[in-house]
Amino acid sequence: MTFRVTTNEPTHASDGALLAIIDDEPTRDATIDEHLARCASCSVRLQQFRQSSESISSQIGSIAVPTFDVAAMRARVTRAEVEARNRQAALDQAAE
Ligand SMILES: [Zn+2]
Repeated sequence: MTFRVTTNEPTHASDGALLAIIDDEPTRDATIDEHLARCASCSVRLQQFRQSSESISSQIGSIAVPTFDVAAMRARVTRAEVEARNRQAALDQAAE
């Protein structure tokens, strides 16, 4: 027995295809442009992706990046190593 699924829904542009348009990728599918010209649903999705993309870009720019203090981190590691050595020495002494 063979099942055949039929649908009246046209094949819409995939999320990836729409993102390729926004990112202006050279591999973008030209048939998507034709589809977008006659499909309101995909045009709206493209518009929403574009707005989200712009919103994310502007928010990324406003994120404060914490500075990493390498010298302070080294000092903490050294202190931790000294403390560990002292603890081990105390344990060794207690065991004698
Ligand atoms: Zn569509």
